[in-house]
Amino acid sequence: MLDALTKQNVHFEIGGRHALGRILDDMGLSRAMILTTPEQCDAAHEIASIIGDHAAGIYSRATMHTPVEVTRDAIAHARDINADCVTAIGGGSTIGLGKAISLNTALPQISVPTTYAGSEATPILGQTENGIKTTLTAPKVRPAAVLYDAELVTSLPIAMSVTSGLNAIAHAAEGLYAKEATETTRDLAIDGMRSFADGLPKVVQDPKNVQAREDTLRGAWACGAVLGTVGMALHHKLCHALGGSFNLPHAETHAIILPHAIAFNEVVAKAELAPVAQIFGDTQAGSALWTFAKTLGAPMRLADLGLLETDLERAAQIATEKPYWNPREITKDAILRILKKAWAGEPPELT
Ligand code: NAD
Repeated sequence: MLDALTKQNVHFEIGGRHALGRILDDMGLSRAMILTTPEQCDAAHEIASIIGDHAAGIYSRATMHTPVEVTRDAIAHARDINADCVTAIGGGSTIGLGKAISLNTALPQISVPTTYAGSEATPILGQTENGIKTTLTAPKVRPAAVLYDAELVTSLPIAMSVTSGLNAIAHAAEGLYAKEATETTRDLAIDGMRSFADGLPKVVQDPKNVQAREDTLRGAWACGAVLGTVGMALHHKLCHALGGSFNLPHAETHAIILPHAIAFNEVVAKAELAPVAQIFGDTQAGSALWTFAKTLGAPMRLADLGLLETDLERAAQIATEKPYWNPREITKDAILRILKKAWAGEPPELT
């Protein structure tokens, strides 16, 4: 179906990878370069064998933070094998490589997401050059088509499923108080969070539960579409600063910061965040997310990601250097208080 909000062809089907050849035909494409990481080579080879003649080759060097050297190398490979499109099978890192290739070559992309990060639904690309990560927004980086096949997500380890799910919930939660929020984006955010509130505990209980994987993938789509449509605030900016300056892992950082950032903003956005509290079963959105994450066994302490207590002051400084819109005024002291709680794994401050 053509999604009205993102203008992408979105396919949901358990086992849907077997329809990829038809999707390529419908798009008039016949030579796909399949992108993946070294860890997901088997999945890429399976896709290649499914699409047969439509596979021009596999490029398996996708890596975190989309380094421009990898993008250049992948583009050279795409030219060598005369690819007419890229098919990214993987999480945000692999999809990021597909976006970077499209930006530079205009080759169309088809995403086959295998995490809940939601990059496939956005026109946003983060890439790294000389150790500096920058983010751009351009309509041409949004994949033309997205194929969600829940069977491909059953291999996502439980710990990554939990942190990736919380990463998706973060897009929806911040989308609720975004300046550009509409009834459509609020409904999507609520649907997305409900899918995870119901489905993520089932995934943790049985990662091979294909129906729970399908439900949570639908949640990932909804949350990703929110991320791709409205602006994000404190939570995403703080995670970006921590990832960029301290090399903290993406999904885990989101999982830990989320309850704290939401509790901070809840003081001024109680009504907007009421659905979060209601969906995750508490009177306060921040506490509800903290308990949900803890119950699922998510990482709770920045200390466990390798951030030193002596880094917190500098982190607060970096996170407040560039001003951005947030529903509540941000000060360095406030960020430092959030970071101290998140570093120690304590429940969020409710004032
Ligand atoms: P990831 O893509 O880095 O994947 C982490 C690891 O898990 C990789 O080794 C990957 O191959 C493996 N993996 C993925 N799916 C698997 C599966 N089903 N089974 C087994 N292994 C699997 O992780 P991510 O959290 O999806 O993506 C993080 C990156 O995406 C960050 O760089 C982040 O900035 C970016 N991102 C971008 C956007 C955007 O809109 N531009 C949105 C969200 C995330």
